[in-house]
Amino acid sequence: MLRSSCRIPSANASTVPKKRIKLRRTNKEIIQSANRRLESLDDNPPISPRELRERVRALVEMSHDSKELALFHVKALLAFDSAAERILAYLQMFVGQEIEGEELEVVSGISEYARRVREWRVEFGWPIKHVGSRYILERDEPDAAKAGQWRTLNTIRRSGESARDKMLALFMALPIGEPISTLQLRYVTDNMDMRRVRELRTEFGWRIMTKNTGMPQLRPDQYVLVDPTAMEPHDRHVDTETTIKVLQRDKNSCRKCGWHPDQRVTGDPRQYIELHHINWHSEGGANDVENLATLCNVHHKKVHTLKLDPESFRQWLGKPE
Ligand SMILES: [Zn+2]
Ligand SMILES: [Zn+2]
Repeated sequence: MLRSSCRIPSANASTVPKKRIKLRRTNKEIIQSANRRLESLDDNPPISPRELRERVRALVEMSHDSKELALFHVKALLAFDSAAERILAYLQMFVGQEIEGEELEVVSGISEYARRVREWRVEFGWPIKHVGSRYILERDEPDAAKAGQWRTLNTIRRSGESARDKMLALFMALPIGEPISTLQLRYVTDNMDMRRVRELRTEFGWRIMTKNTGMPQLRPDQYVLVDPTAMEPHDRHVDTETTIKVLQRDKNSCRKCGWHPDQRVTGDPRQYIELHHINWHSEGGANDVENLATLCNVHHKKVHTLKLDPESFRQWLGKPE
């Protein structure tokens, strides 16, 4: 297939342009301010610490001017609000060509552009090669293994649903138990904050686990939906701090069988741990540490089937199976 050397992503490209780059000043104002600072620097080197400080601060201001100027110049073709997306879109314009890291710094306006490039490669499967200080996007699509996921992300992103529903749609679209990263959630929701994903768990009972809430083996930025069914309403609304305290007290293990997520193997019905209200929430049981117990999913289901009151629950915990 023929490829022009400079390609502007088409309107139906996989990403959704957001015309949200906002400049505080006009191009002219930025240039004027940069010129004034340049003139103030047109002097001999400073001879006192005070003067040195002034010069350094003028140079810092100039670097702000330069960043703002960059936004002015990239906004027509790279109208993305997020720095990461400007990086990807820029690389997509020059598929197969070597791009200097510093160019990515200019289009993104951030100094940690290398991390963003790495995330596009690792999390989203974009074939970006790193040679010395340069980057090459080898093909204009993610690797085969991630291509389907990329299409899914974009379908969800364009769906027009609320941020929370988009997040849930993403969890449901990928295989149950597959970790989803903050980055992917941010991508489908256009950078909505992660409070939405916590609400899915605490308000709506979706069993979305994190490193702190039942899956210590995860990275801090990963989320896993461990079960396609939501929790019983009475087990919802436990805040994250309480969850962490209970899990620490119970050493992340089932109070009935001692199972810990590190022991997870395929074929074992025990796949995750969660919190159970000893005195049921629906019957006035509090969302506090004393009223909560860690159970594996198997024993949690069991305790609900048995409908144990607090006293018989405590006895049941102590009884061998
Ligand atoms: Zn158990
Ligand atoms: Zn329960």
